[in-house]
Amino acid sequence: MPKLFIPGPTEVFPAQLQAQTRSMIGHRGKEYAALHASIEERLKKIMFTKNRVFISTSSATGVIEAALKNSVKKKVLVPGNGAFSNKWAEVAEMCGIEAVRLNYEFGKAVKPEDVENALKNDSEIDAVMFTHSETSTGVLSPLKEIGAVVKKFPNVVLLVDAVSSFAATEIRVDEWGIDLLLFGMQKALALPSGLAFCSVTPEILERAKNQPQGRKGYYFNFTEWEKAAEKNNTIITPAVSLMFALDFQLDEIEKNGGIEKRWADHAEMQKITMDWAARRGIKYFSEEGFHSPGVSVLENSLGWNISELNQKLQANHNVEIANGYKDLKEKTFRIGHMGDHTAAGVRELLAWIDGLTA
Ligand SMILES: *Cc1c(COP(=O)(O)O)cnc(C)c1O
Repeated sequence: MPKLFIPGPTEVFPAQLQAQTRSMIGHRGKEYAALHASIEERLKKIMFTKNRVFISTSSATGVIEAALKNSVKKKVLVPGNGAFSNKWAEVAEMCGIEAVRLNYEFGKAVKPEDVENALKNDSEIDAVMFTHSETSTGVLSPLKEIGAVVKKFPNVVLLVDAVSSFAATEIRVDEWGIDLLLFGMQKALALPSGLAFCSVTPEILERAKNQPQGRKGYYFNFTEWEKAAEKNNTIITPAVSLMFALDFQLDEIEKNGGIEKRWADHAEMQKITMDWAARRGIKYFSEEGFHSPGVSVLENSLGWNISELNQKLQANHNVEIANGYKDLKEKTFRIGHMGDHTAAGVRELLAWIDGLTA
């Protein structure tokens, strides 16, 4: 199988895959509770939070839906600058929640002052659903600054999609005023897909309790989740094998210099890609100063046939990059440099691209 330099799922090392093959354990037993508690504890550490961290057997989108259903009272502000962030407004509406859109041209970053103005202009907004790294356009919007803005509005909670930024760049949940931070495991954590996580403040749990009957359903009900989490458990049979892989990977991250080292590795891989693009005369699609550390979205300024290039990369070098997302197909291409990829691996990939496009 080709090595994946795509922005999720990312390449998973054999040892992490292997960790899933431990014998199953009963999820109502002591061994499971210990595993659950230990994973939550270590996640809190790398999220820089004292809040509850839920473990959800679902993709990250499931937790987006959960976040909206449990936390939004009246209206949610959804800054949109790409395919993922725009979708969260639609998801809100599908859940019967009114979404106020703050739309940007694709490739642009969300600006804190726009969020502030939007909140000032509509006092019925009580939550912001913010996408930190917009994977379709490779934009990293300023989370810390947006956290500071939302803090000025005590009746507004900040919900953050950090799916392609968590573990790739600095995020400090408590210090930055994030009420709910969510992510999956198949991006910068470099694990198979299937579990998602979110931290929740007591305020979010309080809101969940007070939601109207029927709003939350059962599977994504934070009030039910909290009751189970108090016993280091989940309301359903969790994907235990994936938890084994996560358990292993959290230890690996710790052993290899901790989360800060992982942030630094991503910064290095990004720098290598930026230098290469500059050398080849390729522009970033994302706004200058707001490039995502885990994925470079580049303009196809040299007029390559991206799908053909990708086929050749697979056939000759057993690696795969990503074409542009949806409407950006062939207009852009994406190099995922997240997870357990290395600086050496990224250099090798870029040299192969050079060889095929010289
Ligand atoms: C990949 C991604 C998602 C979707 O995650 P799933 O686990 O497939 O639900 C959501 N948001 C962003 C920013 C992503 O990159």
